[in-house]
Amino acid sequence: MTKQKNIGIESNVPKDKCTDRKCPYHGSTKLRGRSFVGTLVSKDTHNSAVVEWDRIVKIPKYERTENRKSKVSVHNPSCIDAQKGDLVRIVETKPISKTKKFVIIEKIE
Ligand SMILES: [Zn+2]
Repeated sequence: MTKQKNIGIESNVPKDKCTDRKCPYHGSTKLRGRSFVGTLVSKDTHNSAVVEWDRIVKIPKYERTENRKSKVSVHNPSCIDAQKGDLVRIVETKPISKTKKFVIIEKIE
């Protein structure tokens, strides 16, 4: 299934095509749930990657804020092929593997 489909979210549609069935554009993966923007910190050869982003947590007792990091493993479709250091938008989907529940939908400049 290599036909382009509408993923339901406004995004930069990749120019390349792929035959990955876990790809939101060319496969059968449907998107639902939360969405984040983060930096790709590592990737492997099996279309997996790790995305990390900062968030601010308020500590009411000390009236201060604290910077924390969130890190998730994501699916990196071969038509997008984000590289280390890229800013990417990820969206939650059904569990793709043991640890992957998110998929990259676009690269942000
Ligand atoms: Zn694709």
